[in-house]
Amino acid sequence: MRKLIVGIACVLIVAVSFGSYEIISGSLSVPVAGRDGPDLELVATYSVICDLVRQVAGERAVVHSLVPPGQDPHTYEPTPTDLLQVTAADGVFYHGMDLELWFDRFMAATGGKPEVWAVSKGVEPLSIDGGSYAGYPDPHAWMDVTLAQKYVDNICDGLIDLDPGGKEVYRRNADRYLRKLALLDDWIRVRVQEIPPENRLLLTSENSFQYFARAYDFEILGFIYHIAPEDEPPARRVADLVDLSREADLPAVFAETTVELRPLEQIARETGAELIDDIYVDSLGPPGSGADSYVRMMRHNVERFVAGLGP
Ligand SMILES: [Zn+2]
Repeated sequence: MRKLIVGIACVLIVAVSFGSYEIISGSLSVPVAGRDGPDLELVATYSVICDLVRQVAGERAVVHSLVPPGQDPHTYEPTPTDLLQVTAADGVFYHGMDLELWFDRFMAATGGKPEVWAVSKGVEPLSIDGGSYAGYPDPHAWMDVTLAQKYVDNICDGLIDLDPGGKEVYRRNADRYLRKLALLDDWIRVRVQEIPPENRLLLTSENSFQYFARAYDFEILGFIYHIAPEDEPPARRVADLVDLSREADLPAVFAETTVELRPLEQIARETGAELIDDIYVDSLGPPGSGADSYVRMMRHNVERFVAGLGP
């Protein structure tokens, strides 16, 4: 395991100038061996699983997300800096189920370093039923909280493989977080009851709610893209969705933050449905968005569904 690098931040240079103080901040890094701070550097491919890894790793690791929040993890193009970061990391957690279409090619460039874990291992996938990726697994399984719990167990197993000395800490952190997720799952089941059953209809940008709809008793009315990197959707699809929305008297449509907005804007304009455009699926929200962790993201989305579809 690599030596711990501890950054000693804020070397302050104070200069006196015409009776006032000017403070210049710098930083200095020195290698230190020991257990005073995190001694693992980990990479997660995107912000949602970065949060899950942080919850389990706790103080024993620093975890970086390759795909910055707000960007689409399906079609991300890794940078040379990403390659350096991954090559230097102790371990990489990725989603799998073909979520990261760029991942295998990217990891080949690292020369087989470092160790890699798929957090979705063991999830029984639903499939994408049309478009360029027909027959591929639908990767958005974390939208069912009980499946995200499986991710947490996989992350815990990966961390114990990598750092057996932390086994008790990882298991304790994972168990505590799993209890929090069980409460989240219960909360969602209760909260969605406020939406009349006939209104539990989702029209979204990407077909990323199959697992959510199955778990929490919604119906997918329609979507623009089977999965985000699809080519331009046919104009006919927008026209069909306008018809479906009118027939269902749909009060709101929902756009994910990482997906092209215009087709849903058009549907909302033509049908008079409310456009709710701050739904988080493939990325957490920025700090202050109320969706900057997995738990907050799920709660935020459900609140938006209740606001749009509720009585
Ligand atoms: Zn997606």
